[in-house]
This record gives sequence, structure tokens and C-alpha cells, in this order.
Amino acid sequence: MSERAGSCLCGEVTYKVSSDPIAARICWCKDCQKLSANGTANILVLTDSITSTGKLSEFQKTADSGNIITRKFCPKCGTHVYANSSVRPQFTVIRAGTLSDPSSITPTMNIWNSSAPSWACLNASLEQVDKQPAHIERLKTPGSHNNTASAV
Ligand SMILES: [Zn+2]
Ligand SMILES: [Zn+2]
Repeated sequence: MSERAGSCLCGEVTYKVSSDPIAARICWCKDCQKLSANGTANILVLTDSITSTGKLSEFQKTADSGNIITRKFCPKCGTHVYANSSVRPQFTVIRAGTLSDPSSITPTMNIWNSSAPSWACLNASLEQVDKQPAHIERLKTPGSHNNTASAV
């Protein structure tokens, strides 16, 4: 287990994550493209393992997955830092670009490829998923039972 740190663009929001990511993915859903003008690299971590400082704004929207996603932004610089799904509050998605060292994580999957633009640079060496990963993944929580998650 290694600790990772990150921040928004202006530095008002900072965080530390004490657990290793459960998943790391590149998402090409329409919402991610609106947010970032491209696909987004994300890590999924245990919500309880995040220590965050700074005020966040929130925006809620029903995602392509059908789940209500709460996205959290720095109100000053607009950086999207976190996302939480209504069905999995125990997990938080962190935008990998906000990490102090984005190379410390390794995406393993492209998801929502079906909505990627024709010019998207898709890493062919990663697992490719057209939409949401079809089946509920079994995710291991360190030291305990399995939890489930299915989306970014
Ligand atoms: Zn900021
Ligand atoms: Zn997405």
C-alpha cells in the first residue's frame, strides 16, 4: 500500500489517498468528454481512504450507466476532482490527472469505447469495453469481504 497525493489546478483542494486504487480506467463516455474535452483517466479508491482539504462544489447528473453521479469540483478553478455513484458510496472516482504523480497508476481498461470520437487515441494494449463493463465486477476490499462496482 502506498500513499498518493493530489490537488486541483489552483491548489485550494488537496487530497491524500492511503489505499491503492481498486481500478484504473480510461473512460470515453459522453459525460467525461464534456468534462474534459477528451477521454478521462480515473482511479477508483475506497472513499474512507481519502483525506481531503478545501471546499468542493457538486453537480449531480444521471450517467449513461443509469446511476446518479455526484461530481465534485474546485469552485475556484473548476477542476473536476472526484465523482461518486449513488449505488456505490463506498468508492470514489478520482481524476487521475489531479494526482501529483499520474504515472504512479496504470490504467488497464478503456471503457465506453462506443462513444469515443473517431480521432480518439485508444491504447490497443488495454482491455476494451464498448460501454459499461457488462457484468458487476468483484472488487476486493483490502482485508475484508468483496464489494461490487461497475462504473466510473
Ligand atoms: Zn482549484
Ligand atoms: Zn466517463
